Amino acid sequence: MRATVFNAPGNVTVEDRTQPTPGPGELRIRVGAASLCASDVRVYRGEKHALAGVIPGHEIAGVVDRLGEGVTGLAEGDRVIVCPILACEQCRFCLVGRRNRCLQRRTLGYDLDGGFAEYLLVPEVLVRTGHVLRIPDRLPLDVAALSEPAACVLASLDLCGVVAGSSMAIVGAGPMGLLHLLLGRTAGAGPIIVSEPNPARRAIAQRWGADLVVDPATEDVTKAVMGLTDGYGADAVIVSVGVAELVPPALELVRKQGAVNLFAGFPPRSSIPFDPNLVHYGEVILTGSQNATTDQYRRTVAMLAAVPHIDEVVTNRYDVEHGPEAYSSRLAMDGLKSLVQFPGVDSA
Ligand SMILES: [Zn+2]
Ligand SMILES: [Zn+2]
Repeated sequence: MRATVFNAPGNVTVEDRTQPTPGPGELRIRVGAASLCASDVRVYRGEKHALAGVIPGHEIAGVVDRLGEGVTGLAEGDRVIVCPILACEQCRFCLVGRRNRCLQRRTLGYDLDGGFAEYLLVPEVLVRTGHVLRIPDRLPLDVAALSEPAACVLASLDLCGVVAGSSMAIVGAGPMGLLHLLLGRTAGAGPIIVSEPNPARRAIAQRWGADLVVDPATEDVTKAVMGLTDGYGADAVIVSVGVAELVPPALELVRKQGAVNLFAGFPPRSSIPFDPNLVHYGEVILTGSQNATTDQYRRTVAMLAAVPHIDEVVTNRYDVEHGPEAYSSRLAMDGLKSLVQFPGVDSA
């Protein structure tokens, strides 16, 4: 089978790999689509670790192709997505359902082969723990591949306590900032203010339903947020760009007792001074989020088809032979999400 392979930072190639055969408890998926994550780009840049020679791709949708011995509850032909986190099942985090925080966790696409290949071997622990989730018929595989990033956004909204009527300020309208806008909108949040210097991305945020879109290069973002929230500040502030300098100004946007979530990952050893009294006197919750629980994946799969504009989040599509171009388009900030797709899988 053909596969896109990560060899080293800056080095991604296309190779022939042996088609995997599922052993007891495992299963094989014929991949329909796998999208590229900002964290894959960080691996490419050498800012985050992945195994040399691994097939990347942890945002995966496809069709169950073959069951290993003893697998129950799934059948060949099932359309599925995968929660890619392999956890120990025994630590404190696993015991309370937070496998995404397991200290021993490993992840498809970083530590084991992921979805940028025609077939994906799903390890036994993922099958056994319900990390292979069936998707609704009306959810196309190329949209379903976004279940992973969307579940991460749902985890972020949950953490910030976003409910219908919550105000949000989103710093950065890249793919993940825009997913916060779409899922926030779907959840009934509002007003939603988006800050983004790139005019093309501002236009998308506007079209996708932001109440106010501001250019931080020419406009006073704090004033804009205060103006739209009766001077309180936003209930939830999402920092979706991994630039440390954006954190102190984000603290100015939140209301007292509101939450600021550092959703983006930052380059290693980033540091930035900020006024701790903003957190102290404001009783602000300053947090981060990464990944999502299995239940958040389940909820994402249940809602995703109903999210407006979700089918527009992927802008760059490649077959596996051109998988490395999925990286170059993201590095060039060309469009929003990149996706490696395998046409014909959904109709097979
Ligand atoms: Zn991802
Ligand atoms: Zn664990």
